[in-house]
Amino acid sequence: MGQDNSVISDDTPAVTLAERSLAAVADHIKSGKARRIVVMTGAGISTAAGIPDFRSPETGLYANLAALNLPEPEAVFDLDFFKKNPKPFYVLAKDLYPGTFHPTVSHVFISLLASKGLLAQLFTQNIDCLERTAGIPGELIVEAHGSFASQRCIDCKTPFPDDKMREHVARAEVPRCIRSEANGDGRCDGLVKPDIVFFHEALPSLFYERRNLAETADLALVLGTSLSVHPFAGLPDMVPEPVPRVLFNMERVGSLGTHADDVLVLGDCDTGVRKLADALGWRDELEAKWRELVGEEEAERQLQGMTKRVQNEVAQLASQVDQVLHLEDKDDDADDEVNSGIRDPGQSNEEGPGTGREGNFQATEGAGSARVGDEESPFEEHNIRGEARRMVSNGLGLEADTAGPGGDGWAKPGSESQRQTNGP
Ligand SMILES: [Zn+2]
Repeated sequence: MGQDNSVISDDTPAVTLAERSLAAVADHIKSGKARRIVVMTGAGISTAAGIPDFRSPETGLYANLAALNLPEPEAVFDLDFFKKNPKPFYVLAKDLYPGTFHPTVSHVFISLLASKGLLAQLFTQNIDCLERTAGIPGELIVEAHGSFASQRCIDCKTPFPDDKMREHVARAEVPRCIRSEANGDGRCDGLVKPDIVFFHEALPSLFYERRNLAETADLALVLGTSLSVHPFAGLPDMVPEPVPRVLFNMERVGSLGTHADDVLVLGDCDTGVRKLADALGWRDELEAKWRELVGEEEAERQLQGMTKRVQNEVAQLASQVDQVLHLEDKDDDADDEVNSGIRDPGQSNEEGPGTGREGNFQATEGAGSARVGDEESPFEEHNIRGEARRMVSNGLGLEADTAGPGGDGWAKPGSESQRQTNGP
């Protein structure tokens, strides 16, 4: 997961930016000092589009693949396995093929940068082609892990027509090389594969030709990636100090946060991007462009999906907090116990007057075990309570933020809910 460099301390002033904040990043852009913005993206920017995490065994995609006798899920992107059995890949491709999904606000924001002449280059690990669908010019995109945009024979490299590919994928049928006797080269019949990078395959030469653009950037935006797949993961480190780097991601990754001009925007990408658009005064333009592109129905679906994901996370937090605190009406009671310090271990079952009724109530609420922990280590219990309160307040901040995309307080604890789903 990148480097272990320590995060920059609050005392260290920013060098290029007025301060480490999105407002300062927006000022940097508005002042005209950022005209060569390099953007690096991963699966996190496609999460809201509903693209499933096809590396996660928990997803329905792998359930579909289970019937096809894969040695392990990753085999679907293994060239040797593909040569022996290409069918599982085409079962997966049917679910992932471009046209099924629509760009997110994050994709459209990058497109907006391009239309304003500020995008020097986009490096994406995603194979979903949503960057192109969002209108980002092809020459500004490096699909570092390839994409479904083109395909060819794995033996003789003869390109395979797009329309025929679409038909094959729709039927989950394996296409074969079109080279025939007719064109004088002899019949081939090799397997056809989209130009996505399988395990052990080299990245497209374009990645190596263009990656130096990161060194000439005057601003770097890193969105929705765990930076766990090399060599892509090394790109942000090519951005020289003191060029500002902004991370939009669920958690801090790689060396982001170790430079004086690194700004960390933790949370889901779309929420962070909307914040930046707000600070730039581009918000209305962004939303209008996005809605025009995906349509009202899809826009609402993505927004509902975001609310649902947030609600699930908040519900999860609340249940964790419940477990820790055995909440209900015990709050003040527990505080008193903590404050009283070391108590007689026998005391908890003898609360004085009213013991009988309260005892019954506690038993129903499962508070007995909390008391035991409390007696053993009141101080630890106190810390857990503090942590739980922090979780609750962060969770509520997140909820408020989503309810009104213009709200503040989007920082939230790191979450596993947005796993990396790079193309291999
Ligand atoms: Zn061929």
